[in-house]
Amino acid sequence: MDFEVDKIREDFPLLSQKVHGQPIVYFDNGATTQKPRQVIETVRRYYEEENASIHRGVHFLSERSTETYEKAREKVRKYINAASTSEVIFTSGTTGSINALAFSFGEKYLAPGTEVIITEMEHHSNLVPWQMACERKGAKLKVVPFNEKGELVMAEFKKLLSDKTRIVAVSHISNSLGTINPIKEIIRLAHKHEVPVLVDGAQALPHESIDVRDLDADFYVFSGHKVYGPNGIGVLYGKEKWLYDLPPYQGGGDMVDCVTFEKTTYNQLPFKFEAGTMNYIGAAGLAAALDYISGIGLDRIREYEKYLLEYATMKLMTVPGLEIYGNAARKISIISFLLDGIHPYDAGMVLDKLGIAVRTGTHCTQPVMDHFKITGTLRASMAFYNTTGEIDRLYAGLHRVREMFG
Ligand code: PLP
Repeated sequence: MDFEVDKIREDFPLLSQKVHGQPIVYFDNGATTQKPRQVIETVRRYYEEENASIHRGVHFLSERSTETYEKAREKVRKYINAASTSEVIFTSGTTGSINALAFSFGEKYLAPGTEVIITEMEHHSNLVPWQMACERKGAKLKVVPFNEKGELVMAEFKKLLSDKTRIVAVSHISNSLGTINPIKEIIRLAHKHEVPVLVDGAQALPHESIDVRDLDADFYVFSGHKVYGPNGIGVLYGKEKWLYDLPPYQGGGDMVDCVTFEKTTYNQLPFKFEAGTMNYIGAAGLAAALDYISGIGLDRIREYEKYLLEYATMKLMTVPGLEIYGNAARKISIISFLLDGIHPYDAGMVLDKLGIAVRTGTHCTQPVMDHFKITGTLRASMAFYNTTGEIDRLYAGLHRVREMFG
């Protein structure tokens, strides 16, 4: 396969580490990704040369910092093909974005007799905030089920859509099953009922190219740290008409126009939704991460990760007693699995001693585990810096686990 993975790995300092005396195999990319030097350098340089609070200063550093921040916003806009930078709100991450929207949207549009549609495979981040909003406003949460392969049952979705539906909140890609959901079709169907759609893109940004206008998504959210950028930065994209219409989520500095004790008027978009001192250094780091990915090219990334997924699936399926959860026709390089009769934590701990980092547990998708009547899985989530050699080590490690517990 024509992909210079060894050269790419040189950009990621952490990948040359040893864990328990073994070269690390990092297969926990669904939880967070490692950072290339280009991102680390951007953040370091910012602190050393540029740091000053944005938007509220006339001095040199503040103006330069503001410029960098707004350039990062433009970079995100271009990357997801939003129509305007007014539609790109920086947040603390996917969770921050969804909580902001669930609160703001809930305040304006949810009431007794209305409904919110989510799916059975949502991360808790795209479930609990909507549940809270529904509880607060007396609305109902409706859930689209998935089938045994881990694909959404679209016929059920169509049945749930009604004139009571106020919003659909759905993940683009499931973090525990790897399923790529038919987002465009979901949006098309919802729009037929004039219902807006929030897409949780936390797992999609690192693997797919995103065009919010082509999808016609009303809201699209993601986290910087899952896309090779820094922690504590994320994005809430919203169509201008929606962001204009919705009330602000948090009050504070910068999101205001004029403040008196009698009344406060709000700043224009996108600042209306950015209260307080924003994570401007995180935004610059995120811009560097997007540049880095563009430099490799998402088409090449997708092709290589598909190859890793096929290789890993083929190998793991030959491990006796191993069952994979999530076998959708369209999925990313995430494999959730169990070894018959072996607790995932036991297996995960043995793998750790062999230098292999996988995630164990519910992956913040308890309803997915309930669906399969299991308490958790092991999850290997692969990125473009992983190798088939590392998959071979996982394969050997699973045999070792079986020898110990099988
Ligand atoms: N949504 C999905 C699909 C995820 O995979 C995650 C994190 O694993 C989240 C939301 C929450 O992301 P964050 O913790 O960065 O806010």
